[in-house]
Parts: sequence; C-alpha cells; structure tokens
Amino acid sequence: MASIAFTHIAKSFGNTPILRDLSFSVASGEFLTILGPSGCGKSTLLRIVAGLERQDSGTVAVDGKIVDGLAPKARDIAMVFQSYALYPHMTVAENMALPLTMRRLSALQRLPLLGRLMPATRQIGAGIRADVARLAGALAIADLLQRKPGQLSGGQRQRVALGRAMVRQPAIFLMDEPLSNLDAELRVQMRAEIKELHRQLGATFIYVTHDQSEAMTLSDRVAVMAGGELLQVASPRQIYEDPIDRRVAEFVGAPKINLIEAIVAEDGAIALAGTPLSVRAKADPGTAVTLGLRPEHLALCNEPGRDVVAVRVRLLEHMGSDVFVHAQAQASVAPFIARLAASHATDIAIGQTILLKIDAARLLLFGGDGRRMDTDIAQGTTAASGRAKESA
Ligand code: ADP
Repeated sequence: MASIAFTHIAKSFGNTPILRDLSFSVASGEFLTILGPSGCGKSTLLRIVAGLERQDSGTVAVDGKIVDGLAPKARDIAMVFQSYALYPHMTVAENMALPLTMRRLSALQRLPLLGRLMPATRQIGAGIRADVARLAGALAIADLLQRKPGQLSGGQRQRVALGRAMVRQPAIFLMDEPLSNLDAELRVQMRAEIKELHRQLGATFIYVTHDQSEAMTLSDRVAVMAGGELLQVASPRQIYEDPIDRRVAEFVGAPKINLIEAIVAEDGAIALAGTPLSVRAKADPGTAVTLGLRPEHLALCNEPGRDVVAVRVRLLEHMGSDVFVHAQAQASVAPFIARLAASHATDIAIGQTILLKIDAARLLLFGGDGRRMDTDIAQGTTAASGRAKESA
C-alpha cells in the first residue's frame, strides 16, 4: 500500500495547457477514480504517476517521497491500459509470468538454452509458475493458461492483462479505461471483479474513466476533471448530492440533472414557470441562476401549491421499475425529466397535464460562473449546504 500526493501539477503539450495546477492526494489503499470527458487530461496525469510522462511543474510523491525523475521501472506501480497489449505468440501463462521473469531472472538465466542449464533458474522458474497459478485461480483463468491470447474472449484477455499487472504485487495500480473495449454486460461483471480485487489486494488504485457509472460504483472517492482542471474530489455520494460546480452535477446521474434558467427576485425568491419555490438564493435580485433538479426529486401530486408545477407530458420512457416523464411546464422553460416509480405512474398518458412537486430542499443552485450557490429554504429551515471541496 502507498499514498500518492499530487502538488501543483501542470503540463502543456506545445502551447496547449493539458493539466492546470492539480493538487490532491490519494490515501493508502484507497480506490480513487479520475472521471472526466475524453481529452481532459486523465491519461496524461496517470502517465505522469507511472513515470511515462514528465510534468512541467509540480511534484508527485509516493508515501511522502518525491518520485519525479524515477524511471517507470523503479516505481512500485503497475499500469493496465484499455488495449490489453498481450504478446500474441506467448501463452497466457508466459504473458502473466513475464514481469516476474524480467525481475527475478538475470539476462543470462533468461536465455532459452543456456539459462536452463543454470541450477538457480529451475528453482526460480518453479516459484514463478506457482505465483502465476495461484493468481490464475483467483482470476478464474486457470484453465486458460496454455492458450494464446488469440484464443480468448475480450473479457478473458482483460483478466489476463490484470493478472499480468498483479503478479508483481505492486503497491499502486493505475488503470486507464481498462473496460472500455468490453461489451456492456461484461463491463458490469468485470467492474465487480475489479472491486473485489481491490478489496483482496488492499493496494492503492487510481482508475481513469469517462463513464460516470463506473466511477460511482467502484470508487471510495471520485476526482472530477474538465479541461485539465480538477473540479472536485469527494465520495460518490457527495459528488452526486453536493456538487460544487455545475459541470460536476451534469457529469453524474442518469438521466442527467435538469438545468433550468431562472432570475432571482426580491428577497432571493425564485420561481419555476411562475410557480414560487420554497428555496431562496443568497443573491441580489436580477441575478441569473441555474436550478439543478435531479429527476428523482420530482413527485406526482394532486393539489396545486408551493413547489408544485403543472406540466404537460411530452414523452414517457418506461424503464421497468421507473418511468421517465418528459415534462413541459411552459414554452419558455426547457423541458425537464421526472423519474417516477412505475407503480405511481400507471395513469399518466402523453399529452396529459399533471402536477409535479419539487423537493425544494434538494434543489441545487448554480451561478453564472457555474459555481454552486448557497440557498435557504423559506420558513426558516436551512437547506443542506454541507458542501466541501476536498483538496489537499
Ligand atoms: P483523456 O485521458 O482525458 O482522454 P489525455 O490525457 O489522453 O486525455 O489527453 C489530453 C489532451 O492532451 C488531448 O487533447 C490529447 O490530444 C493531448 N495529448 C496527449 N498526449 C499528447 C502528446 N504526447 N502530444 C501532444 N498532445 C497530447
């Protein structure tokens, strides 16, 4: 196990800034996911940890020791990429054994014929085979050890690649979109396996993905990046419920968070399509804000009133236990989605007008710069605003 600390990491390719002053740390044994759209600099950051790329400024420390300048080999780190990069002419066993062979045997001992004549070679070779066999058992690929990569499915190949990374038992695992080449079903299955692997090994994992569901299900904490910038580092739950930036809120959750433009009125009052809301903005009248409303924070209701908005049903998406209702409040307000339990929504039809009650305490408010704004709930109660940007 090992902790990792990033301090003021910056990197440009040519004149293009790719990473902008990133500072955060990963605890020993933690599973941290870097989440962000394609091209935001996730892989570059991972490659810097591995020693495959050098930052322009800032430091990376492992267990408090600065590792900048250390060759990749000298770092106790394994990296798994989306492309499995297995050697096609070698068997699974040989592929998995390779990191140990390179490490435990000298160049002379690795020679095919001469090496075998040296007495120590045989003993070390037996040790390596035992290590590989044990790991292959854990990864459920023991019966594939004599096959070549070409004779394996995508999921099996990915497991072999994981096995090869794990065989040295490094303190730190770096994974760059390791599941992106797999089909949807296998991705979910491998996700569970990676999680289990992390639990068994207790090693520190940094996992890169643009898939929010992977990030949310796998991680102890998620670091959300956009455009080379670190937006927030927090637990999946905090990222979802308490995002500090509109881009973070948009990045997690399916269906996406509803974003509705509004103008602050006297005393911080806010209305949605003419309906007054209990939430109050701590902002001057006339300030343009964006309301962030998660689809599950809307519920069917019978009576008009505070926080209740009348909408026309434009579309119904039946998802089994839930129904996504596409709702239009007024022509001037962008349509939004309500996620209702299917059992509550049996009578709803397209074209109908229904009443939806907004859970005002869960409404998020964002300013023109995209930053989260503090809110109050009218009637004196304070809205949840225990937000915190964890970055240290
Ligand atoms: P992500 O992993 O988030 O998709 P990357 O870290 O791979 O993003 O890339 C970030 C940006 O840096 C991209 O615009 C990419 O084209 C650019 N980039 C990556 N590597 C290089 C390189 N060696 N030379 C020039 N540009 C690069």
